[in-house]
Amino acid sequence: MAPGRLEARPALSSLQLVQRSGTLGADGKSEPLAFVLPPDAVGVVVQARGDPKVSYVISDVTDGTQQLVHGPAAKKGGFTDAFEVDREERQSPNRAELGERAGSASVLLPNNPKVQLRPGKGWQVRVQGFRYEGGKYLPANGPVKLDVIIKRAPKAPTAGRLNLHLFFNGSGGYTRATARDSKVIANMLAKLSETYKKAGIEIGQVTFDDLPSMPSAPKSVAEMEQSFAANPYPDGVGVYFTDQVLGSRLIAGAAGGLPGPAVAPGVPRSGVLISTSDVRVNHEPQAGGAALGTTLSHELAHYLGLFHTRDDFMNMDDPLPDTQDAPDNVMFRTDVGADAAFSPQQAAVLLRHPSVAVTAVA
Ligand SMILES: [Zn+2]
Repeated sequence: MAPGRLEARPALSSLQLVQRSGTLGADGKSEPLAFVLPPDAVGVVVQARGDPKVSYVISDVTDGTQQLVHGPAAKKGGFTDAFEVDREERQSPNRAELGERAGSASVLLPNNPKVQLRPGKGWQVRVQGFRYEGGKYLPANGPVKLDVIIKRAPKAPTAGRLNLHLFFNGSGGYTRATARDSKVIANMLAKLSETYKKAGIEIGQVTFDDLPSMPSAPKSVAEMEQSFAANPYPDGVGVYFTDQVLGSRLIAGAAGGLPGPAVAPGVPRSGVLISTSDVRVNHEPQAGGAALGTTLSHELAHYLGLFHTRDDFMNMDDPLPDTQDAPDNVMFRTDVGADAAFSPQQAAVLLRHPSVAVTAVA
């Protein structure tokens, strides 16, 4: 592996990694960290990593013309309330999602058709950090690392390939050996392949591994950090099968991030969790495989940068004009239908994530 460069599988796309180090000052903000966007960039993941006790926000992403691409913009006196930051991020052209931010934060550019990646010099990012102490959000100080993962391809991607790495700890009776022979897992992968094929994405290499040290019932994604770090594969996305997810038998799955930290196993939140005790799996083993496949399709799509078609909590639609808020869309909030699909603009976002290798271009 050459410095500053990630290995890519034979594909039309390649990945370029730019790394920067910054320091959060007294106001909790880093200095502007600069990078150059090559003319063939088709998707970029910007991710900050640091202290697990600090909540991070990617802020002030501006292109060479000083145009704000992703917010929040720096505010005089700084933000002291994380919800204020969330509101600002959601108003910005390439908006981000409220979520777990402890230890890392990431955004995928572009995540809607209005955002253009303007190539050239002058791109800048700042990182903000908060600590929650005594019921208040206080500016955090100290060092922070910034990864800019640039996906390069000759033109806009129209088809791609996604590798998956499955990890088991015996939950639901699944180990590397039993999962390989399981009809439920086979049905899950068949459903996943069918759903992603509609978006032009084939499921490529699928690996099976035992990971006995993985928690059986993680109450937060942060509890999975050691398990994410145990993923030895340099590409694709890690999928972790646990008895319960986020402390509840009613939750079918969870994504480590929206988007997840791309092609960097071991970074906090670099994986997707799937529950083996989800009620649909236990009560309908045959349909259960398909239900698992629908859950995995949805969680992977969060990881690859898609929002719910409508977010009830924030009373907001996703930023894509061609999606309908209905069960026939994979990103419907609950009870996604068995034959759900992605819209063309959702497919375009998925194809831009660095974890998906490009196999055809426009
Ligand atoms: Zn969801």
